[in-house]
Amino acid sequence: MPASGKTTAPGLIALGIVGVGKIVRDQHLPALAKDPNYRLAAAASRHGKVDGIPNFPSIEAMLGAVPDLDAVSLCMPPQFRHDAARAALLAGKHVFMEKPPGATVSEVEHLRALAAERGVSLFASWHSRYAPAVEAAKTFLASARIKSAAIIWKEDVRRWHPNQEWIWQAGGFGVFDPGINALSIATHILPPMFISEASLDFPANRDAPVAAQVSFRTDDGIVVGMELDWLQTGPQTWDIAAETDRGRMVLSSGGARLAIDGRAVQDESETEYSQLYRRFAEIVRAGISDVDLAPLQHVADAFMLGKRNVVDAFYD
Ligand code: NAP
Repeated sequence: MPASGKTTAPGLIALGIVGVGKIVRDQHLPALAKDPNYRLAAAASRHGKVDGIPNFPSIEAMLGAVPDLDAVSLCMPPQFRHDAARAALLAGKHVFMEKPPGATVSEVEHLRALAAERGVSLFASWHSRYAPAVEAAKTFLASARIKSAAIIWKEDVRRWHPNQEWIWQAGGFGVFDPGINALSIATHILPPMFISEASLDFPANRDAPVAAQVSFRTDDGIVVGMELDWLQTGPQTWDIAAETDRGRMVLSSGGARLAIDGRAVQDESETEYSQLYRRFAEIVRAGISDVDLAPLQHVADAFMLGKRNVVDAFYD
């Protein structure tokens, strides 16, 4: 009898969740509770716990004690995800990774190869791609000639990331933690692009940026500007705008709303995590992986090419 005390009905995916913190409580547990594809079988976290299932202090302890797990969902900060993913893949488990999928591009490439070698599925999830108006924006842009585009992602770090030390450490991405959400949408709806210029503002007492300005260019010479700012109080801005021959497109609220020339085309409530888990079940059953590294590659390029400015120290 497995430690979870239950066997999994045929077709159900027995899932272990790892790194029980803010996003697990806000999104993963509610999405899993509604999803008939899964049985949440165990959790592993140093401090966090999930009620009603066996909890373990580490992924290794969980993998050893609950051998009937089919899959794990890795929700710890990106700097600590690779080793957990590797352990799970080596144990033959399918792996769902929160965004960003890792702290470096090459470690995720390595995991992708390992998943293929082991015959299991690896999912680099990008929740913002599942925001309600993203597909409509993609369809609109595919039908238009884009003249220029701008990504404006400005939020208040004190409001959204209180007491998250990891986010300010090297590998924590700083303002690119939300910024990579914008890039996950931009790389889905805009033509392929590459960075031509970047400028990153690092607080004097931190190892990750609090603001960034990035310029991208496509092969056709379309310029895409990106402004990231983590010190915006008051209204928060998560917008991607494009000037096109069919009008001005604004995808706002992190991909929830779409307007063309000021006329609302789509405005729905989001179901991002329900769709992420549906997609994960789909790739597990199809025996494939879904790992698009384009957003992570752009962040790596911004750090590689970007000019570094030292700005005022940041205190919570
Ligand atoms: P969090 O609450 O600060 O971290 C999640 C959990 O990871 C922590 O509770 C902690 O659990 C574990 N953890 C922290 N440091 C660790 C370490 N050194 N080694 C191993 N485990 C560690 O962060 P979060 O907001 O949930 O974000 C986690 C991931 O989800 C990030 O990649 C983030 O980008 C992504 N995400 C966050 C949001 C959001 O709104 N917060 C939205 C979408 C995606 P234990 O102490 O119990 O081990």
